[in-house]
Amino acid sequence: MSLDKNFIEESQKKLLDEKRRIEEDLERFAKPTDAPGEYETTFGDQGTDEDENASEVEEYTDNLALENSLEKQLKEIHEALARIDDGTYGYCENCQKEIDTDRLKAYPAAKTCINCN
Ligand SMILES: [Zn+2]
Repeated sequence: MSLDKNFIEESQKKLLDEKRRIEEDLERFAKPTDAPGEYETTFGDQGTDEDENASEVEEYTDNLALENSLEKQLKEIHEALARIDDGTYGYCENCQKEIDTDRLKAYPAAKTCINCN
């Protein structure tokens, strides 16, 4: 048994929507680099006072953490889309069993089943 074609199309749509949303989020404070899917947090320039410099650093540090987390999600989405392309989408990376469709519905980028998670 393999996943329904419609279900895969639905998941692909969700993944692409999610991808767009994450890219928009990232572009608010980071700029894309030459490497696909990799972003670089830009350093805000609020002013040259010590206070302003301190809050720039703080903002940069927050954004850097956010950038890492969004990039990680983006990477998972890219991988899921690649698995759709090569026909391995929906199978657990660890035990090769089919991932429960309820799990994929809630989290389309899932690469392991509930047991291996
Ligand atoms: Zn598994």
